[in-house]
Amino acid sequence: MAGAGPQLSARQKVALEAMAIDVWTPRIELTTPPPPAPAPALAAALAPDDWGTLEREALACTRCVLHQTRTRVVFGVGDRQARWLVIGEAPGADEDRQGEPFVGRAGQLLNEMLRAAGLDREQVYIANILKCRPPDNRDPKPEESASCEGYLQRQIALVQPGLLLAVGRIAAQNLLRQDTPLSSLRGRVHRYGPAGIPLVVTYHPAYLLRSPGQKRKAWEDLCLAMATVPPLRSPVPARVAIDER
Ligand code: SF4
Repeated sequence: MAGAGPQLSARQKVALEAMAIDVWTPRIELTTPPPPAPAPALAAALAPDDWGTLEREALACTRCVLHQTRTRVVFGVGDRQARWLVIGEAPGADEDRQGEPFVGRAGQLLNEMLRAAGLDREQVYIANILKCRPPDNRDPKPEESASCEGYLQRQIALVQPGLLLAVGRIAAQNLLRQDTPLSSLRGRVHRYGPAGIPLVVTYHPAYLLRSPGQKRKAWEDLCLAMATVPPLRSPVPARVAIDER
């Protein structure tokens, strides 16, 4: 079925222009969600902890070698009761310096992408697969991802999001435990963990900065995410109606 595409507020249209995307009605194939992916070893050891305990533990973590080279642990940021949880790969140089995920040019583009979906950055929760920067921005090693995954699993359990937005190949492959190319993981709704949280895959904004021609596909991914789980708890149509008066 071809999706009719979301109604857009004036603010969303401005954000799309900032992403250099013409406003158009995307065609989205809304596929029936596949059966749940094999449950990740979800926090078997999910401690009855809270945000404070979890953050303190992460900030002092020495579970993998990356603690030796990090400047700061990049724990995560945003609304801890968000409907959308955005998950990236690992901190880069800017993030390592500032202690916050998705800053710098890629972060600005992510903010524009979220704005196009009608969201301020503060209205989602943002975290990475790894909390510490791999030297020279190399890909995370499997043992590093394995050492770190408990933190993200516990963040997901605490936020209880309606949707996970996996940003980039590394995030998608780690969350889905597949090495399928990102291009094959896009365009459908996956399920994460025992709770079957809907998961949508899109491009990393750093990649989009290098390949701006793919921004339109990223917008299609955001449309799929919006159609799957509206990003705000308040009904979006009412807001659109107000904006367009
Ligand atoms: S990357 Fe994760 S597991 Fe490794 S030291 Fe940092 S917080 Fe600990």
